[in-house]
Amino acid sequence: PGVIAGPCSAESFEQLSRTAVALKEQGVAVLRAGLWKPRTHPGCFEGVGETGLAWLSAVRKETGMKVCTEVAGATHVKACLAAGIDMLWIGARTTANPFLMQEIADALRGSDIPVLVKNPVSQDIGLWIGALERLSAAGITKLGLILRGFPSVEEKKYRNSPKWTVAVEMRTLYPQLPFFCDPSHMGGSPEYLPEISQKALDLGLDGLMIEVHPSPQTALTDAQQQITP
Ligand code: PEP
Ligand code: MN
Repeated sequence: PGVIAGPCSAESFEQLSRTAVALKEQGVAVLRAGLWKPRTHPGCFEGVGETGLAWLSAVRKETGMKVCTEVAGATHVKACLAAGIDMLWIGARTTANPFLMQEIADALRGSDIPVLVKNPVSQDIGLWIGALERLSAAGITKLGLILRGFPSVEEKKYRNSPKWTVAVEMRTLYPQLPFFCDPSHMGGSPEYLPEISQKALDLGLDGLMIEVHPSPQTALTDAQQQITP
């Protein structure tokens, strides 16, 4: 499978570089790191922002890995395109917001950067499809999907309910799109990574996006679900 891995959030150049070097040694070709973090409550660590773009560029140079980050609006898109980031992803909260998706699509117009779209936070497949349609209409051709699961009061085990039937539905609608699973946000704990990853691959998904941190317990975001390189 294709593996995209890296910290939930870029916290320092040193943290990013240590993670990337260790992942590269294991054959991981794409590094993920969030620079702008959508947090539920104000006052939490909201990411290092544009400062991290230079870190990502430096780590790419150091390791030869491709680098990707999350964008949640036109300002983020413009900064990433200017910095030459290799790939972008749309977070679950953003996929659920048509205004932001249109703003992002408009900002991407004229670029050919690959964009991976996570499932929306609400279990409305139409929002996921609509996000893809807005990007396509803006001329973005290198699209991909990430299933990260859905918040659900019925789900007792995982942080987000997988809803594998949604994956099958999306795979049927978009057989040509690379389709990843994010077992870190889906399971919410390292102990569930193997079973979720296996299930995703059994269903024919193409790859995994996994959160990796040099010392997960001290991570500024999603400390409970990250694993060491
Ligand atoms: C993330 O990838 O760190 C993230 C914020 O994910 P999601 O949009 O799936 O919550
Ligand atoms: Mn995270």
